[in-house]
Amino acid sequence: MTFKELNLHESVLEGLDAMGFENPTPIQEQAIPVIIENKDLIAVAQTGTGKTAAFLLPILHKICSNEIPDGQINTLIICPTRELAVQIDQQLEGLGYFTPATSLPIYGGGDGDGFSREKKALTTGAHIIVGTPGKLISHLNLGYAKIDHLEHLILDEADRMLDMGFYEDLMRIIGFLPKNRQNLMFSATMPPKIRKLAKDILQDPHEISI
Ligand code: AMP
Repeated sequence: MTFKELNLHESVLEGLDAMGFENPTPIQEQAIPVIIENKDLIAVAQTGTGKTAAFLLPILHKICSNEIPDGQINTLIICPTRELAVQIDQQLEGLGYFTPATSLPIYGGGDGDGFSREKKALTTGAHIIVGTPGKLISHLNLGYAKIDHLEHLILDEADRMLDMGFYEDLMRIIGFLPKNRQNLMFSATMPPKIRKLAKDILQDPHEISI
């Protein structure tokens, strides 16, 4: 299978070409059509399988196809660590290079400057926000992030977030979001507590295991 056969937007195909991704990995082949069809998804996939691009590509495709206005927060990606947030944001920059999509990482180390920079950027808005739970809560509590038009919530490495004790933070963040949205959850493992989180958050999800 090719990326073109997955019906991705021309600008996204250009990004893939520039990044040197020739063919979709199995998780990408299976997840991309489900995400484009606006279904909720739970995917069990380890790092190294191409899981990050599996969710970034269809999101970029939808931002291009639906002509989301500048500064409208469309997608929230929550991940366990700032290292992972940086990696996701870098992949987003590369894959989205030829698209109008904008992104903003929220993972500041706690210094005042970082926070006010993030605050300013969040007030202006970006299509895709990538952040760690604690940092996101601080910003959402203050209420200036305009998230009424949010369409996608993505939890990456959900099992690691639960192991790090982020369950309550995740549920608080979700409490701020519009109810009508698409939810995608990626996890390396599927213990009972992940099943429970999926039951709490996802609606009639499609399941993929790689
Ligand atoms: P991940 O599983 O998301 O951590 O991705 C692992 C690595 O595979 C990353 O460095 C990606 O840049 C790379 N990658 C993802 N999808 C593809 C693909 N379809 N072709 C080649 N490399 C890829």
